[in-house]
Amino acid sequence: MKNSVPLYRGRLAPSPTGHLHLGHARTFWLAAERARAAGGALLLRNDDLDAVRFHLDFVAAMIEDLHWLGLTWTAPMISQSERLPIYRAALARLHSAGHIFPCTRTRRDVLDAIGAPHEGGENDEPIYPPQFRPPADAALPPLADALDVNWRFRVPDGETLAFDDAALGRQTASVGRDFGDFLVWRKDGAPSYQFACAVDDADLGITEVVRGADLVKSTYRQLLILRALGAPAPRYYHASLVLDENGVRLAKRHDALSLRTLRARGVDPGTIIQKFSEELTEVTEKD
Ligand code: GLU
Repeated sequence: MKNSVPLYRGRLAPSPTGHLHLGHARTFWLAAERARAAGGALLLRNDDLDAVRFHLDFVAAMIEDLHWLGLTWTAPMISQSERLPIYRAALARLHSAGHIFPCTRTRRDVLDAIGAPHEGGENDEPIYPPQFRPPADAALPPLADALDVNWRFRVPDGETLAFDDAALGRQTASVGRDFGDFLVWRKDGAPSYQFACAVDDADLGITEVVRGADLVKSTYRQLLILRALGAPAPRYYHASLVLDENGVRLAKRHDALSLRTLRARGVDPGTIIQKFSEELTEVTEKD
């Protein structure tokens, strides 16, 4: 009889908007390690939809850096910028099921309406004011004529969403309070990170997403998209973030800890991996 449990399929999903640093190295090593331990596959997804910050040189650099670390994946690399028809088809499904609405409000409109500074990260939008949301039975413009406007996902206010994170345990959020109607399509004709990521995880049959803990909040939005598309959710493993000596989360501007700089200084990648591996054993033994 065929085994009905899906094989493990993980992915590495770097964004080519800067050089990879030690934090990325740790997350990607963990992803590779979990795929290896499960005897599964690991894909490489190039998250190159951010037209403003994207740079082709960073794609070549990230591949080189990942190879330097000794990571391997199943070719070919998947580039999000080449998958627009897949995102459009998924958007059409959300449109015909009434999950999305067009939005002409600017970020300024949203910030003025909520009357408070927004403290979230780049993938954590301010809560969309419910008074801006059209009524549920309002007619939607045909999608083909409106791919040059922003589209938002209508969230089920008041629902509590939960998932069991393989690293962090049970996670819960209250919809409408922790986040609101979020962007799935941008007026420049590209999907948002949340949308492209959820569509890809479903389309590529990803069974476990390993990524940084800064993306826990994104997971709820992605779970809603997956549910609306009728796709099963992968398991999530959100890895703790690597901090610098001042306790600040590493960012791409931390050039001193970029993998390129470490390589130029003659650091041995085996030593880096050895350290990650020892830390992981320490954490596991504490549990
Ligand atoms: N490309 C995203 C990032 O670098 C990660 C996306 C993901 O793993 O879901 O932040």
